[in-house]
Order: sequence, then structure tokens, then C-alpha cells
Amino acid sequence: MSEKPRVRFAPSPTGYLHVGGARTALYNWLFARHLGGKFVLRIEDTDVDRSEARHERALIEDLVWLGLEWDEGPGVEGPHAPYRQSERLGIYREHTERLLREGQAYRCFCTAEQLEAERGAAAAEHRAQVYSGRCRGIGAAESARRAEAGEAFAVRLRIPDHPLRFHDLVRGAVEFPNETVSDPILVRSSGMPVYNYVVTVDDALMEITHVIRGDDHISNTPKQVAIYEAFGWKLPEFAHLSTILGSDREKLSKRHGATAVGSFREMGILPEALVNYLALLGWGAEGGTREIFSLEELTREFRLERVTASPAVFDWEKLHWLNRHYLKQADAARVEELAWPHFAGAGLLPGFEAANSETKAWFAKLLALFLPAVSQLDELPKKTGFVFGFDLAAARENEENAAVLRSESAQKVLAAFAAKVRATDAPVTPEQFKVWMNEVKAETDAKGKDLFHPVRIALTGSHSGPEFDKLIPIFEEGSGLALPAHVPSVRERVERFPAE
Ligand code: GLU
Repeated sequence: MSEKPRVRFAPSPTGYLHVGGARTALYNWLFARHLGGKFVLRIEDTDVDRSEARHERALIEDLVWLGLEWDEGPGVEGPHAPYRQSERLGIYREHTERLLREGQAYRCFCTAEQLEAERGAAAAEHRAQVYSGRCRGIGAAESARRAEAGEAFAVRLRIPDHPLRFHDLVRGAVEFPNETVSDPILVRSSGMPVYNYVVTVDDALMEITHVIRGDDHISNTPKQVAIYEAFGWKLPEFAHLSTILGSDREKLSKRHGATAVGSFREMGILPEALVNYLALLGWGAEGGTREIFSLEELTREFRLERVTASPAVFDWEKLHWLNRHYLKQADAARVEELAWPHFAGAGLLPGFEAANSETKAWFAKLLALFLPAVSQLDELPKKTGFVFGFDLAAARENEENAAVLRSESAQKVLAAFAAKVRATDAPVTPEQFKVWMNEVKAETDAKGKDLFHPVRIALTGSHSGPEFDKLIPIFEEGSGLALPAHVPSVRERVERFPAE
């Protein structure tokens, strides 16, 4: 390719950025970065009833979070500003006047009732519901006169009488018979230009070389091709990305769980995990089974030719696998900062922002122990809940726990363990814990599960969990570590859960 590519991501601020849109943005971004081209962000807000400033803000926040910064667009500006369609209405108007002048478009005075009747008749006769072309033949002078007299009109494009063809980098040559398109409306009688029209004018004026977007737009493309032709503009390359499906192979939707980028962020999925995952949703690197890629590596490897035309299936397991990988890699201080709001949200660690460094050191230890056990950060409060205390009655009632505690040996173990703990003020270290357990073992003859399970239930509320060696330091003040006020120590746990 001799010219540097220019691509765009053109979201409509009518809702949140979802998986499909984020993947479109990512592929555009990677394509531009790989070839040293430009990535443009254009806000398509001509649907005034549905567009909202808060959605635009959220979209921008999500793109920034994913690391997909733009070269031209809101906040950056550039040679083709403005980049918000609602600020470009004058440009569209000029172009409409040009098409009318050149006879490529015409005024359509059909009323809503007339069009409805046409559609009804077509449906009754099982014909395609295309516009009849009633206003196509109105002469220029009569058309201008009626417009001036105040008659309402839409502007329609005169579709050429040849098939509409374009090249798609994912699907190859695509052709639509012109009869299926009919003369599309470019500007409604309200004066508002329609999506197919403004997207084409903007793509052409912004010198977009490759239109990379979801395949839900493929049926719009012949209309856009006809608009390029009407202006005598060169067609860009197109690349329509396959639909993303849920595990039941239905189009991915809210039914399948979170799909908005903001929801993934709130769950504690790292942006690098989501980016890596989205890259794999329809693309794979040359000759390999490799699946872990940083944004830099993706930029190096990404080729549109390797984007598949078959639908991609959203796979939570793989996203979780990647997130666990990136959580392990991530800088500890960063993970701590991302993790604590989840605790705050669950009513744990209140006021932690202002905690002293000893309490923060304790939190770091807690995370180091539990992070490998979670796939997303919002699982942490539940996983670590027992550290902050647990419901004693519920722990006793739990069937598996009850089976353990019912035995005489368990009661003996608990009583002996409590006596050891009470007999000394020594700090409770993993080493001290081992000494006590050996003594309890000798005194009660309990071993293995019979020895450890009752103690584990007393300290944690459950008969399974992390090793005591790692757990004991979490329950104790230590060198440079302070427990948050409401985390009970081993001694407190023993007193709260006495033998019966
Ligand atoms: N505003 C359109 C959308 O959000 C963009 C379509 C396109 O990329 O051409 O679906």
C-alpha cells in the first residue's frame, strides 16, 4: 500500500460501548498502528432523539481505558474537524445541494400515507418493498417550484441501473442487484440527513481508506457505494467483521451476561486482558497457537487478511484465563488500587484510602494470597470474606462442617487447641501454630483431617481453604503489618468459636 491508511471508529452515542464496538475500535486501531496510518474517532450523533452527551463521555472513557487513543477526533481535533456529525450539518447541506444540482438526487414529495400504501400493495403482491420512483421524473423547475411553495420533501438518491459492487477484505467481492436498493432517502423531510448519507460524506471528506466495521452494516454498504458513485468519489476498501455470538450461538446480547466495556471494568477485568481477548475474537496470528499478546505485540502481528469471516463465539473461560494471566503479571500496587474499591463496595475495609502503611502492607499480603484464586477482582470480597469474620451459627450448621464437629475427637481437638492458645501470650506465627498442632495431636491422638478440619472450621468457618502457613500471618499483627480493626485475630477466633 503506497498511501498510509486512514481508518475511523464511528460510534453512535446512543448507548454504552459493547464488546462488538470495542472489537471494531481495536481492529481499526491495530490496522492503523501496524501500517503507520491514522485512527480517527468520529461521533455519529445525528439521531438527536437517541444521542446523549453522557454516552459520548462514557465511550471516550472506555476507549481511553482500553488504550485506544485516536489521532483525530473529539479532544484532539485535526485537519477534518469537526468530528461530531451534529456539528457538520452545513457540510451535508452543501453536498445535498450539489447532488440536486447535478441531478444525482431528487426531491421526493410523497407523503407518509402514499409510501405506506405502496408498501402495503407490494406486501399484498409479495413484491419487494422498494420505492416506486414516483417522484423520480419530476422536472427540475417543477421540483424547485414545489419546494419553494413550502411543500414538504425528502431527498432521494437516484440509484444507478447497474449492480452495486465493492471489495471486502474479509468477504471478497460483494455485489448487490440495484433493484434491491431502490432510491434511498438521503435527507428526511424534517431536514435531517440519514446515517448512510452522512457516513459516506464523512468517510470521503475525511479521506478514510478502509472502512472496518461490524457486518450488521453490510446491507447498508450498497447504498453507500451508490453515494460514492454519485459524487464521483473513489471507493474505500471495506472490511466487515463477523457477528459475535454467545455460547448458544445466538447473537451476543445482555442475555449472555455483561457485554458493555464499562461492566467488564467494574468486574475487575484488566484492560490488557480485554484487549487481548477482543483481538482473538475473529483474528489469529500467523502460523501459531499463541494467544497471549500485549497491545504492542498485537500491533506488530495484526493483519486484516487474517480476520475470519465466520462468527466468533464469546468465551468467558478464555477471557478469565487471560485475566488471571494479566492479574499475575500486573504490578502489585496497581492491583491493590484496583482491588480495594471492591472491598469497599462490599462494606469491607471502610476508609481504606486513609489507612496507614502497616494496614496497606497487610492488604498486600491478603491479595497475594487470594489473587490466584480469582478470575476477576470482584470475586475477592466473597473469597476473602471469612478473614473479616464469619457467621458462627451458619458455620456450625453447614452440613459438612456439622459432620466434622459432631465427633468427640473434634471437640477434644478444639478444647485442646483453645487451651494452648490461652496458655501463652506468644505471637501467633505459623511456627507457633505448628508447635501447638503437634502438641494437640499428641494429646488427642487425632491426626490428618480429624486434627486439622475442626481447627480450620473454628478459624475460618469452612473445612477447606488456603494453607495455614499462609493464612496465619493474615490473622495476626506482625512486623510492619497491622490488621484492619475489624479483622479478628487467631486468639479472638478461638474465643468466638469454643468447643461445645
Ligand atoms: N454509527 C454507526 C454505528 O454505530 C457506525 C457505522 C459505521 O461504522 O459505518 O453503528
